Amino acid sequence: MEIKLSMPTDNKGLTGRECPVCKKYFKIKFGTGLKGPVPCHCPYCNYIAPHDQFWTEEQINYVKSVALNYVSNELLKTFKKSEVKAKPNQLISFEIKVKGKPTPIAYYSERDLEQNVLCKNCTLEYAIYGKFGYCPDCGIHNSHEIFITNIELFKKLLTLSQNSDPAVSKLIIEDALENSISTFDGFCRGALKIKDSTLNISFQNIDNARKSLIKKYNFNIAQGINKTDWEKIIFAFQKRHLLAHNLGKIDQEYINKTNSGQGLLGKPVSISREEVIKITDLLKKMAENLSVFIS
Ligand SMILES: [Zn+2]
Ligand SMILES: [Zn+2]
Repeated sequence: MEIKLSMPTDNKGLTGRECPVCKKYFKIKFGTGLKGPVPCHCPYCNYIAPHDQFWTEEQINYVKSVALNYVSNELLKTFKKSEVKAKPNQLISFEIKVKGKPTPIAYYSERDLEQNVLCKNCTLEYAIYGKFGYCPDCGIHNSHEIFITNIELFKKLLTLSQNSDPAVSKLIIEDALENSISTFDGFCRGALKIKDSTLNISFQNIDNARKSLIKKYNFNIAQGINKTDWEKIIFAFQKRHLLAHNLGKIDQEYINKTNSGQGLLGKPVSISREEVIKITDLLKKMAENLSVFIS
């Protein structure tokens, strides 16, 4: 006997998957991505195996419960046929009544995940924890793509906040700068780890990172960026540092690194929307350089 059943998906049509090796959860949309039966790549550890090895515990319990529900239902139906009703006018009478309910079905719902991704290489739609991972269908590491998606989102927020209340606007601009740089740092660290897992360079200090990469690989992350734009990058990274660690007040380190006047010491740092938008483009350029370098 065979029972055919379709797996429940989340409200966007994605089905849960669990890696048999690292046990981490992700979701994919069947029907998107590569055609034909292709093995599945774990987005986190890149373990590759057929899809039937990636069932989640909830899905296995669900399938078992559907089978048990069917069998117990059939059994109950058979027993019900043997029921005997008591005959009221007889001296001795007996009754057989079948009680019981079929085994319930273990319904479940798929979990929420942080990042929805559309693989530009194979068109698979999938969702993962964290920001970066391998595409479960084509196996490409899509950190660069996710980085671009995030940066575009920050830019969109900056544009949308144009008519906001000045205090709200200021907050959005500062957040966009901080988020863009930490996303850039996350992307670069992750990308470099694919090349050499022992490397640990902080890209929040961009000048040091650039020098380290030149020294180790003779690779310049700022390739194609002119002197004026490089200075803008140095300013922006220093401003982010002040916002994150010094309540946005200018310190001596900022003055030294940006060659600013001593009179600025202790004053609040200011950053404009245009400045942050320009920085997001320069971050994209540096990320692209790094992507080409590691590929
Ligand atoms: Zn895994
Ligand atoms: Zn793909």
